[in-house]
Amino acid sequence: MLESMKQRMDNMWRRLAGWGEAAASGAVAFARCREKRRRLGYYTGLALLLTLLGVGSHAWRTRGASDAPESGEAPRAAALARIPTLAPAPFLEPMPPATPEPVRWVWPLEGEILSGYSPDAPVWSQTLAQWQTHAALDIAGSPGEAVYACRDGTVAEKWSDRLWGNVIVIEHDEGYRSTYAGLNTLEMVNEGDSVEAGQVIGSVGQSAVCEAELGWHLHFELARAGESVDFRKLSVA
Ligand SMILES: [Zn+2]
Repeated sequence: MLESMKQRMDNMWRRLAGWGEAAASGAVAFARCREKRRRLGYYTGLALLLTLLGVGSHAWRTRGASDAPESGEAPRAAALARIPTLAPAPFLEPMPPATPEPVRWVWPLEGEILSGYSPDAPVWSQTLAQWQTHAALDIAGSPGEAVYACRDGTVAEKWSDRLWGNVIVIEHDEGYRSTYAGLNTLEMVNEGDSVEAGQVIGSVGQSAVCEAELGWHLHFELARAGESVDFRKLSVA
């Protein structure tokens, strides 16, 4: 009886020892496992940290280009939307076309019209005692009174002849040509001179023998492209 109890006790102790050993080995295994888990956690944390660092670094480097268009219509539209639009220019009244300087005509001598413009109908010439056309104006003046250029132009010719005395011809724009005959002198301008409307080119004389009966006056003709023009029909200042 005692023997069997002792054996039971031994068995029980043996069993307890076995449990102890098992427990001990379990503790060791548990400790090893904890060590593994600790190392695993360390490496996992390290890897996670490196990953986060990498992601953060990439985000930092690409922050400026993150919204840059890569391709396609939408990015292009976004790029266009970022182009600053110009404010609409204020409406400006169109400039009126530059009007040319109005032509200025000037009477070469102001005085009584002794013989009018009659290019077609003959008029009586007291000097020549005959009927003849007169495509000119005979303007009465005082001896030596100033004679003016009727318009801006260039002195084309000047001469003296037996019938018309001292003659000056001035050419103007638009094909006009003015002739001043019976002048007192030819000394005031020379051929090629530019003259302005109203500039003195000579003085009243009585050098036109063919109109001597009219006294001191200016025989004034105007023509355009070879056709005589009635100076009185121009807008003269
Ligand atoms: Zn005349």
